[in-house]
Amino acid sequence: MNMNEQMAEAESSILHTYNRFPVVFERGEGCFLYDSQGKEYLDFAAGIAVNALGYHYPGYDEALKEQIDKLMHISNLYYNEPIISAGARLVQASHMSKVFFTNSGTEAIEGALKAAKKYAYLRDGYADHEIIAMNHSFHGRSIGALSVTGTAHYREPFEPLMGGVRFADFNDLESVKQQITPKTCAIITEVVQGEGGIYPATQEFLEGLRQICDERDILLIFDEIQCGMGRTGHYFAWQEYGVQPDIMTCAKALGCGVPVGAFVLNEKAAAASLQPGDHGTTYGGNPFVCAAVNKVFEIYEKDMILAHVNALTPYLEKRLDELVQKHACVAGRRGKGFMQGLVIQGRPVGEIVTKALEEGLLVISAGKDVLRIVPPLIIKKEHIDRMADILERCL
Ligand SMILES: *Cc1c(COP(=O)(O)O)cnc(C)c1O
Repeated sequence: MNMNEQMAEAESSILHTYNRFPVVFERGEGCFLYDSQGKEYLDFAAGIAVNALGYHYPGYDEALKEQIDKLMHISNLYYNEPIISAGARLVQASHMSKVFFTNSGTEAIEGALKAAKKYAYLRDGYADHEIIAMNHSFHGRSIGALSVTGTAHYREPFEPLMGGVRFADFNDLESVKQQITPKTCAIITEVVQGEGGIYPATQEFLEGLRQICDERDILLIFDEIQCGMGRTGHYFAWQEYGVQPDIMTCAKALGCGVPVGAFVLNEKAAAASLQPGDHGTTYGGNPFVCAAVNKVFEIYEKDMILAHVNALTPYLEKRLDELVQKHACVAGRRGKGFMQGLVIQGRPVGEIVTKALEEGLLVISAGKDVLRIVPPLIIKKEHIDRMADILERCL
């Protein structure tokens, strides 16, 4: 089958919920992908910020294969070895208290919302609490996560969604304060908005949220699903701000390719929220995915991945800023570390993404006008140069 035949066959059986780019990928190596015709692509999309270690990072495949040979799945009715160390490593990296492993980002959000509701229920003795979320946020596609996602057209067809959600403007403390009521039990926000268009939170915003939450015993939830796991040069983006959440969600790069997420609670939230019987998952945190989480943390430590991101960020920013200066259609750059966005004006972002694909570069869009750059965290200077050269041609 040639690539067109493969794509037609896919569309004949896979529900059309994505307008996929016209390429069939077959394998990856380092920071490169190869389609079924053998063409090479430099990958600055990383499976939407998942493949932080690129493809076939030394030791990663072997760790997974070893676990397959031992035990893939056992359910959460029993202990298993990989979940013990994966939990400990996530607690250590976050300096938080307790972890619940999930299968995806959206499930991590569901768990975080349930934990916040249960916390308020135990405290007040009744339910019916409210959650404040941000406009232009993205938290996932399941009903609870969709309910706190700040894009109306994602939500509308599925209403009524979870009740008691109020939206405020990101980076605008006053608008958050206006949405607070005696029923508010949680405020949820990304630290760097991803899908919404790569908007980093301001220091004042996060500090202000923390203060509001402390004053009223509201739980602060940070969604680190996209910006976490080293993407901004810290394990979690909030660590740069020094503002701690009560609950944090992660997924995407947590397993660098296996489906795993988690919500992580501080001592206060863990001590008085979800109890036996309140929450569960059959697959979540199974030995296979936790072996991946363990290996990811081990590699991050051994090969100093965060230091690498921090060392190379100024160069990435410099090359992107040159594009801003040179091209009238690039209005600006926003971002942190290896989570960067170029604001495109006067032409559709999709056109640039498609042109880049033809030229052998994977980038993606975010929001309505942002070219999103979320490469594997292992890129080198030469990859940045090649990315900039290709974008130069596309712009
Ligand atoms: C991707 C993403 C999610 C949803 O994760 P899934 O694994 O696709 O369910 C939630 N929040 C943020 C910030 C994300 O980027």
